[in-house]
This record gives sequence, structure tokens and C-alpha cells, in this order.
Amino acid sequence: MLNRIKFDEIVKALKEKNAKIVGIQLPDGLKYKCDEIAKCFESHGFKVIISGSGCYGACDIDLDLLKEVDILIHFAHTPIFEFENVIYVPYFVEYDLEDLKHLKIEEKSLALIASVQYAWKLEDVKRVLEERGYRVELKKGSGRVKMPGQVLGCNYTVLRDSKAEAVLFIGDGLFHPIGAKIYTGKKVYRFSPLDKEFEEVEVEDFLKRRMLSVSKAMEADKGAILVSKKVGQKRLSLALRLKEEADKVGKRVDVIYLDEITPEKLSNFLYGYYVNTACPRISYDDFELFKVPILTPQEFEILLGLRSWEKYEMDEII
Ligand code: SF4
Repeated sequence: MLNRIKFDEIVKALKEKNAKIVGIQLPDGLKYKCDEIAKCFESHGFKVIISGSGCYGACDIDLDLLKEVDILIHFAHTPIFEFENVIYVPYFVEYDLEDLKHLKIEEKSLALIASVQYAWKLEDVKRVLEERGYRVELKKGSGRVKMPGQVLGCNYTVLRDSKAEAVLFIGDGLFHPIGAKIYTGKKVYRFSPLDKEFEEVEVEDFLKRRMLSVSKAMEADKGAILVSKKVGQKRLSLALRLKEEADKVGKRVDVIYLDEITPEKLSNFLYGYYVNTACPRISYDDFELFKVPILTPQEFEILLGLRSWEKYEMDEII
């Protein structure tokens, strides 16, 4: 991992900033690497403190640790916020463009998107597709995303007003392309450079699961709106607006402010459902871990009768 993230450049930047104590923040899936990374920095004379808190993405800077160190190094994500004392070290995956020469896509104009690990190479992907006769749209989204074509699980703004006939997503997993399909209503293809999988993405099962959650929540007497303390996930004003809407239609909800939204943190409460205003992926990906439905703000609007299923939207943090 450290070869790919230009360790020497980070050490140079730390020395230029005269850092003595360095904080390290890794996403949960890479925390097993912390010992290796700490050793590298210690060998250059830095004292290292590792963040043991959960880390969702660049939306989740460990502000407590930041107060204790000279520089915090945040691995695997591109910045959402610029902090003077945070160095972001994105993790980019190398992949072979040759595979793109054989993808069979009937539409001739494509919007190109990717998750952060793959978005760095989209200009090259675009060139390959254009050589094959496709018209390729590669746009930059809102300030929350940094690279052309980059999508986040909470942000599809690169596809806003897209004129393309279809979307091609480069990356792993189905979550982002499902979001892209719901966001655009267009045909979405997914190509995973790692396992060479290519498919057209369907959203029916995803929407059925979401409908089931909303129906279950409708049966409950009392719910709560969850607000995260995390710097890039905190949407208190949205929570308060939703509570106001609920009050207007006589639906009882409380607002809960918390650091991590996990089943354990909610285990002492007795609500029949939750509305999650933090990272949308908690509702979409982790819903099975929770004992009661965990809705998005848009799904709560459906529950309140303020939005129809035909107007279903992905939750976004712009
Ligand atoms: S809110 Fe969720 S999807 Fe958005 S950047 Fe943070 S972790 Fe990623």
C-alpha cells in the first residue's frame, strides 16, 4: 500500500510543516495496515498516534485527534474539506484500459462515472471509448467531489443534467451504479476492472427493499431522526425541518444527536423506526443490521405523505 501512496512525498510534507506528532486515520477496512504505516513514520523520527474511531470517508475527520497532533494523515479518500493540518492520501487503483476496448454497449453517448479509487484514470477511459466511436460526457460534480466523473455514495452531482443516453460506471460493488440509475432514470452499465465483470444494473430489488422498510415504519407509533456529529455528515437543519413536517401531520418523532450510528448505540432506545440524516449508506447498505427500519429523509417524506413513490430520490449530501 505504501508504495502506491508516495510515502516519501508525505514525509517531505511533514518535515516542511515541522511536524513532530503525526495522527493516522484509516478507513475500517484498512485499519489492519496501521502498524505497518506507523512503523514507516516512526522510522523517520515522528511520534505516531492512530485514530481508533470509525472512519467512513473524507466526511469523517477525527477532530478530537486533530487537536492532539501536529498533522493528521487521512488515508484513502480525496478531500471534502480543506483543513490546514490534514494531509489527504487518496488510494488509487491501477487498471488495464485494454478491457474497455471490448465492452458491448449499444448506446452511442455515455456519461462516465467512477468511485474515487478509479476516477483518476477516467480521462484515459474516455479517450479509449472515443476511439471506439462513443460520445463521452465526463463532468465535474459539486464541491464535495474533486475529480471529473467521481461519484460518492452521497453525491451523484456529476450526472446532473446529463445529456448522455446511458451511464458507464467503473468500480466495484453495485451501490454507486444503483444510485446512478435512480438518479438519472437511464440505463446504467457497471464495469469492474478488478474482477472484469460487466453488467447492466437493475434497481427493482433495491427499491422493493426500500418500500418494505417504509411500510414497516408506517406501522410504528414513534420514530426518531438521527443526526451525526461527524463533520461531513451533520445535517441538523434537515432533521429539524423533517421534525417540523412530522409535527404538522401529527406524527410523533424525536431528534437524536450522536457520534456513530450503529445498532449498539441505538440499543437502549425504543423507537419503531429511525430516519437517518447522516451517511446515506447507513440506510441503504447497513439496514439489515438494525432491528427496526432506518429510512432516508426522502423515504420519511413518503411516510409523511409529502412525496410519492414515483418521485423516489437517492439521498444526497451536496
Ligand atoms: S457521507 Fe457516506 S457516502 Fe458520503 S463521503 Fe461520507 S462515507 Fe462516503
